[in-house]
Amino acid sequence: MSSVPDAFLANSDVSGIANAAKPSGWQREMASAVRAVDELLKRVDLNPDDAEVRRLLIFAGIKAADPDTLRRFPVLVPENFLARMTPGDPDDPLLRQVLPLAVESDLVDGFVADAVGDLDARRTPGVLQKYAGRVLLIATSACAVHCRYCFRRDYPYAEEPRRLQDWQPALDEIASDSSISEVIFSGGDPLMLNDARLQALCLAIDQIPHIERIRLHTRLPIVLPSRVTPELLAMLAGLRAQPIMVVHANHGNELVGDCVDALRMMVRSGVPVLNQAVLLAGINDNLDALETLCRRLINIGVMPYYLHQLDRVSGTAHFEADRDQGRLLIQQLAARLPGYAVPRFVQEIPGEPNKTAL
Ligand SMILES: *Cc1c(COP(=O)(O)O)cnc(C)c1O
Ligand code: SF4
Repeated sequence: MSSVPDAFLANSDVSGIANAAKPSGWQREMASAVRAVDELLKRVDLNPDDAEVRRLLIFAGIKAADPDTLRRFPVLVPENFLARMTPGDPDDPLLRQVLPLAVESDLVDGFVADAVGDLDARRTPGVLQKYAGRVLLIATSACAVHCRYCFRRDYPYAEEPRRLQDWQPALDEIASDSSISEVIFSGGDPLMLNDARLQALCLAIDQIPHIERIRLHTRLPIVLPSRVTPELLAMLAGLRAQPIMVVHANHGNELVGDCVDALRMMVRSGVPVLNQAVLLAGINDNLDALETLCRRLINIGVMPYYLHQLDRVSGTAHFEADRDQGRLLIQQLAARLPGYAVPRFVQEIPGEPNKTAL
């Protein structure tokens, strides 16, 4: 039986910030992330107090989300990500991923809180299983950025293990089922755990003999590149199980500067790095945007894995692109790029044995 190491138990809060003896660089960056709509707009030279800018915002269809929406899913944007936005452009593809809009509170037919059947897939607190051989851990509720199209924006994180000793039943469950060969750390974002806690949870999983692979689904290398450190990569390299990283970038403009350095450092460390993206109306639903995204990825050594059709979660309808248009884009992409650069266009359909190819 695998168990949670002592270091893990010493601290009972998993936020990764509150209890860290000395916050590391990325934790300080998180503390100073932008957390208000007005501040976000001002930081990209779109001060809504300016009459000219107000006209621009109205023209771009930008009306700020209501206070209730913001309370339930607040603004969160690290400086580093913000610095990659084009000042003065209300249509900037990075800004649009994080800017809360009034339309999020519209009720749209077919868009529901749990669009992907996460709650039915809950096997033990903190553990979801939908597919043979692999389980997904809700490692933390925290993210470094709040993506407005997020499919888990309404997930009941409060019911999942928070204190580290609460993970024991999940570990026991995984240890007792030898059909599970892969554990996927998700959330939230598992890299929001500090190194000590992430390592403790990884090691506890790594001790389970039938676990062959440990996969991390994370957006931090994209939005907060300083999270990728030699210590983190050394920890992953030291695991018995094969580590695999799946990052999440949607637009080529995300792949610049120190984000490229961080991804390259991951790739050079030997861990396989894949990318998943979501097809987002007005952000990347055109051939040039997808081509640039995929080309930049492969030039860093990151393999495009999935392009997801949007999950129909309440508040995200304005991001939905047409599925047939998505199919066409993938066909056109295949005519422009090497075969390995073309992601699989998939949708998550509750009850299916895998993500469904479109
Ligand atoms: C998407 C998902 C996975 C991963 O699926 P792969 O096709 O292996 O990438 C695993 N578990 C759950 C619950 C998922 O939603
Ligand atoms: S990083 Fe992932 S889990 Fe977090 S808000 Fe964005 S899409 Fe959702």
